[in-house]
Amino acid sequence: MGKVLVIGCGGVAQVAIQKCAQNDAVFDEICIASRTVSKCDDLKKKIEAQGKSRSKITTAKVNADSVDDLIALIKSVKPDVVLNLALPYQDLTIMDACLACGVHYVDSANYEPEDTEDPEWRKIYEKRCKELGFTAYFDYSWQWAYQKKYKDAGITAILGTGFDPGVTSVFSAYALKHYFDEIHTIDILDCNGGDHGYPFATNFNPEINLREVSANGSYWENGHWVETKPMEIKREYNFEQVGMKDMYLLHHEEIESLAKNIPGVKRIRFFMTFGQSYLTHMKCLENVGMLRTDPVMFEGKEIVPIQFLKALLPDPASLGPRTVGKTNIGCIYTGIKDGKKRAIKIYNVCDHQECYKELGSQAISYTTGVPAMIGTMMVMTGQWKGAGVFNVEEFDPDPYMEALNKWGLPWVVDENPVMVD
Ligand code: NDP
Repeated sequence: MGKVLVIGCGGVAQVAIQKCAQNDAVFDEICIASRTVSKCDDLKKKIEAQGKSRSKITTAKVNADSVDDLIALIKSVKPDVVLNLALPYQDLTIMDACLACGVHYVDSANYEPEDTEDPEWRKIYEKRCKELGFTAYFDYSWQWAYQKKYKDAGITAILGTGFDPGVTSVFSAYALKHYFDEIHTIDILDCNGGDHGYPFATNFNPEINLREVSANGSYWENGHWVETKPMEIKREYNFEQVGMKDMYLLHHEEIESLAKNIPGVKRIRFFMTFGQSYLTHMKCLENVGMLRTDPVMFEGKEIVPIQFLKALLPDPASLGPRTVGKTNIGCIYTGIKDGKKRAIKIYNVCDHQECYKELGSQAISYTTGVPAMIGTMMVMTGQWKGAGVFNVEEFDPDPYMEALNKWGLPWVVDENPVMVD
C-alpha cells in the first residue's frame, strides 16, 4: 500500500518498525534512518533474517536536527508518511521538512527544546508559564502553531501516538463515543510493575524520562491548571494483574490536548507508579546536578550532565531480556450517560517477557511502538484523514481500538472500577 520513513532506531522505533514489517499489507516499504546507520542496518538484517515480512527495508543516515538533511532524505526516499521516533527535540525540524515536501507527519511525543537555557526559547516559555499556569518544558503550542500551514498544504500531522499520550487519548475518545454523554473526570494511571534487576535504570530515553519525572506535577481542574511540587501528590492503587503500587501525580502532555478536545471535562489527572529506590536515586542525581540540561565545562570540554548520565545508565533497549512483570496502563472516566452517573476504566495489561519473546523488547518500548505503527497505519490507509495538525482523540477511535486488539495490545473495559480518591 505505501512507504513509511521512520526517523530514529531506538527502543520505541525498533518495536514500531518490526510491527510495520509484520503489517506488510500496509507497509510495502520501510526506510529506517538515524545518525548511527549501523543500528538501522542491524535491525534491517534482523527482520530480513526472520524471512517473514514482504516489506522492502532500506536504511539511511540522517541528522534530524537539520531541516536540509531531512528534506534531501525525504526527496530521495519519497515516503507517504514520516514517522518521527527520534527525540522530542527533533519534532519541529521534522515537521518543517514534511511541510516542505508535502508528506504526512506522525510522532509520539510533543516538542521540547534540547537546551532549556536557550534565551530565545526561554522568553516564550516564561510567557507561557504565566499565561497557562504550568511550568513543564514541553507543551503543544509549538506544534499546534503548524495548524494553518499543514491545512494549506493539504497534509496531516498526527501528534502523540504512543501509549500515553496516544492510546490513553484514543481510550478517551472511545469512552465518549460509546459510554458517556458527558465525561466529567479522567484519571490516567500508568503502572509499570516490571523489574529489570538494576538499582537504577529508565525504561525509555533517560534524558526525556528524568526531565519529565523531576519536574513539577500539575492537573487540570475547572478550566485551569493546578501545579504541584514534584511527587507532592501520592496515592496507592491496586492494579489488575500487578497488585498494590504507590503512584504519583505528574504533569503529562495529553492532559493539555484532552482538556481542549473532550467537551465539558472538569478534571484530568495523570499518575505514574514509582518504587522508592527509583525516587531516591533520582533525588540524589538531581541534588548533585546530574540532571542539568545546560552545558558545563569539564576538563576544557563542554558536557551536558544529563547526557553524560545517559551514557552511564543501561540502554533502555537492553532491558528486554532481564525485565519481568507487567505494565497496566489505562484511564478511569466518570460522567453521565442517559441522565445517570457512570464510571468505567479502560486499560491494557502487557507482559515484559511476552514482548521480549515476540520482538526482543521490554513492554515500555512495546506499548509505545505498537501504537506508533497503528497511528501511522491510520494515515497510510486513509482511515484517519484531514488536512491540519491533530491529536489522536480528534479522530474516530473505533478502527484504532480494533487495531490495538489485533496488533498486541488488547484492552478491557471495567464497568465497576476501583476509583482514585
Ligand atoms: P531512544 O533514545 O532509545 O532513541 C532515540 C532515537 O532517535 C535513536 O535511534 C537516535 O539515533 C535517534 N536520534 C536522536 N537524535 C537524532 C537526530 N538528531 N537525528 C536523527 N536521529 C536521532 O528513545 P526511545 O526509543 O526511548 O524514545 C523515542 C521517542 O518515543 C521519544 O520521543 C520519547 O519521548 C517517545 N516516547 C513516547 C511514549 C508515549 O507513550 N507516548 C513513551 C516512551 C517514549 P541516533 O543517535 O543514531 O541518531
